[in-house]
Amino acid sequence: MRGFDDMKKFLLKCCQPRFLIGGGVILFCLILPFLMDRPDERYTQIRSFPMMGTVGRITIYSGRADLPEQALNQAQKTIAEIEKVCNVFDPESELSRLNRTAYEQEFICSPLLWEMLCRADHYYKLSNGAFDASVQPLMRLWGFRQKRKVLPAPAEISQAMKTVGWNKVKLDPEKRSVRFTVKGMEIDFGGIAKGFALEKVLNGFRQLGVSRAVLDLGGNIGCIAGENRDAFQIGIRDPQSPNEVIGTLPLRRHCIATSGGYERFVIIAGKEYAHIMDPRTGMPVSGMLSVTVVTPNGTDSDALSTAVFVGGEKLAAEICRKIPDTGIVIVCPDGQDRKILRFGSFPR
Ligand code: ADP
Ligand code: MG
Repeated sequence: MRGFDDMKKFLLKCCQPRFLIGGGVILFCLILPFLMDRPDERYTQIRSFPMMGTVGRITIYSGRADLPEQALNQAQKTIAEIEKVCNVFDPESELSRLNRTAYEQEFICSPLLWEMLCRADHYYKLSNGAFDASVQPLMRLWGFRQKRKVLPAPAEISQAMKTVGWNKVKLDPEKRSVRFTVKGMEIDFGGIAKGFALEKVLNGFRQLGVSRAVLDLGGNIGCIAGENRDAFQIGIRDPQSPNEVIGTLPLRRHCIATSGGYERFVIIAGKEYAHIMDPRTGMPVSGMLSVTVVTPNGTDSDALSTAVFVGGEKLAAEICRKIPDTGIVIVCPDGQDRKILRFGSFPR
């Protein structure tokens, strides 16, 4: 009973105003460091949405009630505008119209399509032709547009190759116009469109004042970590067991993209063929498992991962020499095993 009385006395004493205030002060001092370390992010929002035949997922961390909604709506609008222009599966898109008519007459482009064409031109030159947005006839031939059961014959490949080659596309910057010099040519931005969208959305976010966000546009990832904030830890998938990672990288303001044979391929006569074409041979690239590019710009990471998938180690080294702050990871077969090669510099 004595113990109970003592406890009662102690509790009553604690309830006296001076003890309550004292306790409050101590508690406040204890949680203050956490409050200072963690900016207000009570309006954090995550949104997933379909885009470009895949899924986009954006997370915005914010202490402003209006910002996430506004930024997410703007992002979806930007992506939809890009998709509307360059969707080759939509016969009414501007790019489909260009593909249908640019041999017969010059095609005058909208500013957005023109910008994408100029970027494709830039990556063609930078990659010595490994990135070539005119590979669409090969994609079609190899059954990436419609399934096929037998391999294309060499004659079919060389026939399709006559209509492939960015040097056969004439761009006129004065008129912002395009002309195909060979009948049957077709442009496809599958290797660049998601990264281009990522770049545009990130630019928009920075202008809006988004200070912390992570974006995943169908595997093209971009981060804004914010001043003095923790980096996002982003994993690089293991191409041979895609539920595991071969490593993680701390990203603050970088973008990362992986081109992998494991993601999209066709099976012809029991063998897998990757969905990336070597524009010099007309064959799907073999001997490469995955290529990951980490770099500040979203379009660079997308286009260059596709380019290095074709161009291999030599191109990876060349790109890292030319573009600062860029790292490339190649995973390729090595006899019965596989090897992981790293080029350039990685965020730490
Ligand atoms: P994904 O978009 O599936 O993540 P990539 O970014 O590597 O993968 O792009 C692959 C797409 O790029 C193909 O589906 C095709 O549309 C296009 N493509 C294929 N080969 C090339 C190439 N050599 N240069 C440019 N684009 C290509
Ligand atoms: Mg790509």
